[in-house]
Amino acid sequence: MVINDLFLSLSMNTDLIAEAYQRLFPEKECPYITNLEYNRRLSDFNANIKLVYNSLSIHLNLQWKDIDNEIKIGLIQSLMLKVLKKRINTTNINLYNNFVKNIPILTPKTKSDPVLEESFHRTNHKFFQQTMEMPNLTWGTASKRKLASYNFHDDTVTISTLFQEARSEVLDYLMYHELLHKYHKFGHKNGRSSFHTRKFRDDENLYENKSKIEQEINWIIRESSKKKAKTSLFDFLRLK
Ligand SMILES: [Zn+2]
Repeated sequence: MVINDLFLSLSMNTDLIAEAYQRLFPEKECPYITNLEYNRRLSDFNANIKLVYNSLSIHLNLQWKDIDNEIKIGLIQSLMLKVLKKRINTTNINLYNNFVKNIPILTPKTKSDPVLEESFHRTNHKFFQQTMEMPNLTWGTASKRKLASYNFHDDTVTISTLFQEARSEVLDYLMYHELLHKYHKFGHKNGRSSFHTRKFRDDENLYENKSKIEQEINWIIRESSKKKAKTSLFDFLRLK
């Protein structure tokens, strides 16, 4: 394959963006003015891409600086394919995905919270035979759209503050879902990542009273909207 020959010719000062493009589309010239920057503003192992006319710029968190170029090319290719709305699988993208799956092992744990920690320990005990390493744990915003998430890039479970007062069964259910993401990692096929695989769903269904808890979650979301409406009316009256 052509790719293997290109691996050899890659030097320290290579324009990684042009290189990434070239490997995706060997028959084309890279049509962009490229700009690759490292900064501290982005969160851990994060990256973003911006395409304006023919200028393509990519910002990487500073942590990427010492990471192998082959992995970075995979990251850049993934970002490019998102912008170009194309699906191609490459050796570099596979390298990048494998790297991302291992970030949690490398990431120092800096964020935690007593309530979330208890929830983690209960869930780890009940479903993972205590084999799960504790990720970073943090409360997010009072989001109704994003109730909880797991970020592979910084090994962090984030849970919406709407659930700060919730029963432990409800909180643990969200925790369990996110820990399953950490546990199952993700599949990658035809340039597309899959997170909620069949195996994932099967495991998720092991949670007792799952449908009742989902109803309770919907109730908490509805109640929080009501509360919010009340507060804003109150604020309005107070202003008068
Ligand atoms: Zn999920």
